[in-house]
Amino acid sequence: ASAYVGIDTLQEQTRVRALRRGYTFNLLVVGRSGLGKSTLINTLFKSPVARRKEGQEEPLPSTTQVKKVETTVCEGGVKLNLTITDTPGFGDHINNANCWEPIVSYIEEQYGRYLTEEQKVYRLLRIPDSRVHCCLYFIPPSGHSLSSLDVEVLQRLDKVTNVVPVIAKADTLTLEEREAFKERIRADLHDHGIKSYPLEDTAVHDDAKMKVRLPFAVVGSNQWHEVHGRKVLGRRSTWGLVEVENKAHNDFACLRDMLIRTHMQDLIDSTSDYHYENFRRTKLSVVPN
Ligand code: GDP
Ligand code: MG
Repeated sequence: ASAYVGIDTLQEQTRVRALRRGYTFNLLVVGRSGLGKSTLINTLFKSPVARRKEGQEEPLPSTTQVKKVETTVCEGGVKLNLTITDTPGFGDHINNANCWEPIVSYIEEQYGRYLTEEQKVYRLLRIPDSRVHCCLYFIPPSGHSLSSLDVEVLQRLDKVTNVVPVIAKADTLTLEEREAFKERIRADLHDHGIKSYPLEDTAVHDDAKMKVRLPFAVVGSNQWHEVHGRKVLGRRSTWGLVEVENKAHNDFACLRDMLIRTHMQDLIDSTSDYHYENFRRTKLSVVPN
């Protein structure tokens, strides 16, 4: 008899499973109002991975409550159900105490739903998964450092989900300012013990052999422009055009690649194995009196 166990076929099995079931990936977008959250969601849906059908491209209304946008992408036989949840901005009030509460509650509510289904005697063959796999946190492009509000919110969010901080409206900072700001944010995150995603890599390797330092500095736009006969999404000002998809102009494409192409499976797995498991353990260990 051979000692061959066949672990090496697991990857193939995962692929087959992925082909059959597809992926469900839920993204949550959080940050102060006016930082371009809704615009970035539109940008993601217009970019090549998640291009919606013609006629579905109307912009989202301005956000007054939690709002979900869904799309299904099919590529190479793999189906992706992508849901992006937009949240109303916070930080508009003089008193911002506990402004993270509705966001944390929303995330925990989704875990709760999943847990309820999991505990039913006759379980659904496949539990509908509305758990948040990744939270994009928008940092104002101040160029200084993280505000105390950002720190507080991030410290709460990183306990319940994978948080990817991004620098909003990167076109308002020069390239030097962006690099310095990134460095400062990395130091602030470290000093306040905030665990942002991805945990280990401080640089995400790009296909162009370029190292993009985290956090990503992004630009969003709903506007198509023509550049050398190509139609590109971008923001035009009197001095030029910032192309959303151009990796020399900003990190939007790097963010999109990380979310959809390179780290999606890991975001899904770590949500299930780590964040959901924490929630589950806490819920089940509570002894009712
Ligand atoms: P939200 O409140 O965070 O959802 O922000 P919106 O998406 O509604 O955007 C607020 C304003 O910022 C709008 O006028 C957008 O056109 C503008 N905006 C969005 N993204 C960017 C960006 O990347 N750069 C710049 N300069 N402006 C942006
Ligand atoms: Mg909005």
